[in-house]
Amino acid sequence: MGIDRRGFLKVSGLTVLGIASGKASETFASSDSHGHTSDGTTKRYAMVIDLQLCKEQEGCTDCVNACHHVHNVPEFDNRKDEVKWIWKDSFHHAFHEQEHHYLDKDIVNHPVLLLCNHCDNPPCVQVCPTKATFKRESDGIVMMDWHRCIGCRYCVVACPYGSRSFNWRDPRPHIEEVVDDFPTRTRGVVEKCTFCEERIFEGRPPACVEACKHGAMAFGDLEDPESRVRELLRDRFSIRRKPALGTEPEVYYLV
Ligand code: SF4
Ligand code: SF4
Repeated sequence: MGIDRRGFLKVSGLTVLGIASGKASETFASSDSHGHTSDGTTKRYAMVIDLQLCKEQEGCTDCVNACHHVHNVPEFDNRKDEVKWIWKDSFHHAFHEQEHHYLDKDIVNHPVLLLCNHCDNPPCVQVCPTKATFKRESDGIVMMDWHRCIGCRYCVVACPYGSRSFNWRDPRPHIEEVVDDFPTRTRGVVEKCTFCEERIFEGRPPACVEACKHGAMAFGDLEDPESRVRELLRDRFSIRRKPALGTEPEVYYLV
């Protein structure tokens, strides 16, 4: 790996954050990995994706490219081996149960941006036999310790959103340009979006949010009533994927 595990995990638990998402700039209190923050509060990070703005950028993959580049996500030439942290799929596939005849056709006919939902009640965490996947109580991010992953793929089966990828082959020869300050993974390990916790720690927005020049993505703390994500969810109608499952996704879509 490009950086050692201890260094990487240290970044995981401690957060001092100032995020610029959309129009708003936000600062949060620091927190440790047990859910205690310097001001006695916990955070609940969330992503809000504006489908109206996203659909206007036909064929745009800036967010996907940025994420996959900074996280050393490999690119394979066949679907079976595919590893993805953020991707686009049809509205029909993403929101099957919420589709109806009278929805805005413009939205329904455009691809939707998908990533790990960092579920508040994540089934992937419950099935992991080694605790390689876990939810940080300090901020709700569903994390992975790749060194603990034994490749059983229970989490892949348990995730109802297809958010997890398994490295069937050694990913390293398939990374276009290795970024040294982020770990590469090995064959036999599962991976997924981390909500850019390593960037949040440095006070930077997630790579995908930063890469979107159209303001279609916002990231922030749901516990903060003044945050941009709370503002958007107050002002606009939003949906989440498969709400009936009770997983409580923390990725919201403005329609
Ligand atoms: S979307 Fe899937 S991988 Fe992400 S937290 Fe929810 S169940 Fe786990
Ligand atoms: S939050 Fe970070 S890790 Fe997750 S999809 Fe966006 S860029 Fe990738």
